[in-house]
Amino acid sequence: MGAHPSQMTIGRPCSVSGRGYWTGQSNTLTFLPAPAGSGVNFIRSDLIDAPRISAIVDNASGLSLRTRLGQPPFHFDMVEHVMAAIRGLSIDNIDVVCTSAEMPAMDGSSFPFALSLQSAGIVECGGSPPTFTINSLLRVGDQDRWIEARPTESSWLNIEYRLDYGNNSTIPSATYSTVVSELEFCEQLAAARTFITAAEAEQLQQKGLAAHVTHRDLLVFDKLGPIENELRFPDECARHKALDLIGDLALTGVNLVGEIIACKSGHQLNVQMARMLRQAYLTSTADADLRQSAA
Ligand SMILES: [Zn+2]
Repeated sequence: MGAHPSQMTIGRPCSVSGRGYWTGQSNTLTFLPAPAGSGVNFIRSDLIDAPRISAIVDNASGLSLRTRLGQPPFHFDMVEHVMAAIRGLSIDNIDVVCTSAEMPAMDGSSFPFALSLQSAGIVECGGSPPTFTINSLLRVGDQDRWIEARPTESSWLNIEYRLDYGNNSTIPSATYSTVVSELEFCEQLAAARTFITAAEAEQLQQKGLAAHVTHRDLLVFDKLGPIENELRFPDECARHKALDLIGDLALTGVNLVGEIIACKSGHQLNVQMARMLRQAYLTSTADADLRQSAA
């Protein structure tokens, strides 16, 4: 994902504030530059000793409608849009200091995070980026919902997302595919917002969640389309699912090269694929180490 010979971080601190969708709690994220090899780390400055956790899949769980790092009370919820912005901008090393557990919802996209990170400048910090080139077919899921990782000739990561909620859904079926580069991410993906159906929104609010969220804060679909809102792209939902996938696969902790095709996947399957890819990466580096010590 990206063509930088060096690992990258941000040039200076920057921050984003907002309320979470689920809890409504305020959270200020402060992004800090970090040295080569440190990866992406999340820190809870509101907890005693400000504990930190590495943003890798070993620490993650794919939940319904969101991805979590850690376990309550030391956890970070809905990290996928922040992770997508970090990966989409090819940032390898960064600290994300948070004042509460749930990431700010903002407009439901990665755009406000990407804008803040870009304003801080993306700079080299030395060392070559950890990279895994997909060298065999990997698959998770069943016949209906699945993700495949495939080798390609390309030296980039290509992603394809196939969205299909059936003929009766007001969310139109669409397939979105893209090469994951900073330019494509910023122009085509970052602004794609999260979405739910009016029925799902009602269920959440009955449970006392997302009480403050209005139809303007994300895309809520009823029979006629998005309520009190306009799409930013005709296939905005498929683009958002591709964005979620990039955020979840960033939990591999490495730059991926190859092709990922996802059919109707959500965070659970995305995280399963991230786990499989990270395992394949660790096995490949262990094999390389063995070959080196044998030589
Ligand atoms: Zn999302």
